[in-house]
Amino acid sequence: MTLCPAEPDSGVVFVRKDKRGQEAEVQGRFDNVCDTALGTTLRNEDGVNVATVEHLCAALWGAGIDNVRIELSGPEVPIMDGSAYPFVFLIECAGVVEQPVARRWLRVRRPVEVEIGNSRLAVYPSEIFSADLAIEFDNRVIDRQTYRFAEGESGFKREISRARTFGFVEDVERMHAAGLALGGSLDNAVVVGDDGVINEEGLRYQDEFVRHKLLDCIGDFFLTGHRMIGHVEGIRPGHRINNELLRAVFADDSNWSMSELDDAVFSKAQEPSLAIA
Ligand SMILES: [Zn+2]
Repeated sequence: MTLCPAEPDSGVVFVRKDKRGQEAEVQGRFDNVCDTALGTTLRNEDGVNVATVEHLCAALWGAGIDNVRIELSGPEVPIMDGSAYPFVFLIECAGVVEQPVARRWLRVRRPVEVEIGNSRLAVYPSEIFSADLAIEFDNRVIDRQTYRFAEGESGFKREISRARTFGFVEDVERMHAAGLALGGSLDNAVVVGDDGVINEEGLRYQDEFVRHKLLDCIGDFFLTGHRMIGHVEGIRPGHRINNELLRAVFADDSNWSMSELDDAVFSKAQEPSLAIA
């Protein structure tokens, strides 16, 4: 994967360099999401897929990148260590440039709520992006965890970016037997048993699991193509309900607006768009 500079207002665009003679660009947008079973997968009109975009999208959000061209030599974003930190590190190494175009924010105007099974996710009007998430697993290593994140008060890189994806021993065994996640190992996921974490190095945060769910939310929400201003509340969130919430927001034009935030209502001043240097 190569992250490249991109024009103002181009957004997040994936380019499959291994596809010849086919439309190989896939816009990183929520309405291109075609599968949410093991991660978030995008598909363009030609049926070209890009899988596992969520941790990279979270890193882009964390680094403040608005416009980027992501070249890939295959059908998925590298999993790295299962977190967003390696991408944050590489973006910092490359550097970031301001572009001569004001950043446009997605403002949530009305409460929107979705429920799937025992999962619930809602977003409310607010002056910043913030999120309150709760997870509950019938496993005493994870059990119930909650986390609150508020842009400006919390630090994405320090608090969220290093949280890794996780799975249970029995799921890993079942997936490998089904030929899935064959590259999956203790190097790119936290594996949870009945009595503890299998990984020798243990956890990076004592509540790493709920922090990773927040990382996933941030990445999935960046598929609006813009930074969101709203307060998110979720119980047992996942990729599917994250995407359903965005579809519900955009189903009604009165739910949202696009703004450069130069009005006095918001504490944020107008900001420039950012790209990879
Ligand atoms: Zn994840």
